[in-house]
Amino acid sequence: MAAQAPAPPPETGPERLPPGLYIVAGPIGNLADLTLRAADVLRRADLVACEDTRVTAKLLRAARSRAPMQAYHDHSPAALTAALVARAHTEAIALVSDSGTPLISDPGFELVRAARAAGVPVTPIPGPNAAIAALSASGLATDRFFFAGFLPAREAARADAILALRGVPGTLIFHESGPRLAATLAALAHGLGDREAVIARELTKRHETFRHGRLAALAAEAAQDAPPRGEIVVLVGPAERASSEAPGAVEAALAEAMARMPAGKAAASVAAAFGLPRADVYALALKAQTRR
Ligand code: SAM
Repeated sequence: MAAQAPAPPPETGPERLPPGLYIVAGPIGNLADLTLRAADVLRRADLVACEDTRVTAKLLRAARSRAPMQAYHDHSPAALTAALVARAHTEAIALVSDSGTPLISDPGFELVRAARAAGVPVTPIPGPNAAIAALSASGLATDRFFFAGFLPAREAARADAILALRGVPGTLIFHESGPRLAATLAALAHGLGDREAVIARELTKRHETFRHGRLAALAAEAAQDAPPRGEIVVLVGPAERASSEAPGAVEAALAEAMARMPAGKAAASVAAAFGLPRADVYALALKAQTRR
């Protein structure tokens, strides 16, 4: 009897991922930035939770994944968060956002909190992030930095937020959009002084640009130009000794703050911003009030 050819091994398919929640970073505009590991997790996940299923469908095609999708965002009902966490006890649930790393100005915070509270393993699958990409190529200080996300849209709230960042001893990183760029640069110049700054636009895409300068000049240029298209990260270098100690800097910040809030509150916020004793700044505020 002729020897039979050995039977082919059974179709096993890809090895299953251990159950849990996988936080998967995707590209920020260039599909080629999808990492091998991210693509692998997306292929093997039992479910992909995402912001916009049309955007994620393209990502899944690039990853050759046929995983089902579930729309998930910050306004999703708590019951959906609970249902995803319940599934993550026995299945691999991937979370992606429309761009970059989930949770960074993107949905997912409640889901990660709930998963951790329920004892579900949460695994980061790191990859692109606009803030870090911009910082890495900006030429500004990278040893210490502070990611501040989007500034408030309303003028007074934005000025308060900027004042609170004045004393941060590192590069500040903001998300921004074209239509708001000019107003934001003007507010930054006003609140932080004329620091070195970089505008990083359309990172990883065909029209990627970096514009470097001082805040006042960049603000003046932006006020002249049409609002730039595309996505933008604004980076502001730390205060240089000379400019933060410029004569009248504390008084100017105090006058600006006192125009918007009571003297005590203004003194507290300027003291924190400049790292000065609150009593000293309050004394300055009282002096300014008597001069009015
Ligand atoms: N999760 C994303 C990340 O990890 O980078 C950030 C998402 S947030 C909703 C969108 C903002 O990120 C944009 O308004 C812009 O400030 C910044 N951003 C995203 N992609 C960018 C790109 N390719 N170039 C410049 N900025 C970008």
